[in-house]
Amino acid sequence: MILYDERLVSREETDIDIEDRAYQFGDGVYEMIRVYHGRPFYMDEHLARLERSATEIRLSLPYPITRLKQLLLDLIQQNHLEEGNVYIQVSRGVAPRYHGFPEQARPLVIAYTQHAKRPLAELNHGIKAVTTEDIRWLRCDIKSLNLLGAVLAKQTAIDHGAKEAILVRDGIVTEGSSTNIFIIKDGTLHTHPANHLILNGITRQVIFKLADECEIPISETTFSKEALESADEVFLSSTTMEICPIVEIDGRPVGQGVPGPVTKQLQEAFVNEIKRTTLA
Ligand code: PMP
Repeated sequence: MILYDERLVSREETDIDIEDRAYQFGDGVYEMIRVYHGRPFYMDEHLARLERSATEIRLSLPYPITRLKQLLLDLIQQNHLEEGNVYIQVSRGVAPRYHGFPEQARPLVIAYTQHAKRPLAELNHGIKAVTTEDIRWLRCDIKSLNLLGAVLAKQTAIDHGAKEAILVRDGIVTEGSSTNIFIIKDGTLHTHPANHLILNGITRQVIFKLADECEIPISETTFSKEALESADEVFLSSTTMEICPIVEIDGRPVGQGVPGPVTKQLQEAFVNEIKRTTLA
């Protein structure tokens, strides 16, 4: 089943209009929520961010977020989703193609689920990344459907046999193409401040809490590409990749070229957080 507007229906029963503004303008916002043990992880935080993204693009959701939450819980249950992802998007709706906001259109909510296991090989051994220029717009805090900058960056990584592209704007590391980036230097965690140049990841926010509990100091200040290159440890975070070590950047090893101790400590704390929140 999928969620279409306010109904759970089979995928075959629905049509997406060619004049849906998501399709023509990328005019909408989205979220991805992880499900463990049949239960959503930090769902309220994701839905709050969806509402914020919508507000920032002056889009009103067609029904209350509490209603959306119930529909998504029903979707997870009906699809027997034990381990996987829920993708939700809200477009500004269907209207004759014209850039200005339509007067009549009802925003369209769709959501569907994907069965997906935790990426254990990557989590255990780490991944390779490349650096590339951050060519995206100046409202990266909005989780908007306009993802071309991210798509091109990710493909650059893939072309180089890497899994993620680390974006650099004016010599400063902002984030990954679909992840937040952290470095560890002399025991302190550094990550870009949550401003208009990055998405304030939900996983990023969970890491702040866990680091606090583990008494790992965090500095939310910008750092340069040179600092990235001389870091002791580097990792990325996202809903689907969790806390994933980066062991090689631009063909050179990070630290010893294996996942480092602080990263592993946070990964362990993250697994405990999954258990705490999704196992009754
Ligand atoms: N930055 C960008 C650009 C992203 O697309 C994502 C993934 N949605 C993230 C960071 C990580 O955010 P989250 O932890 O909420 O998945």
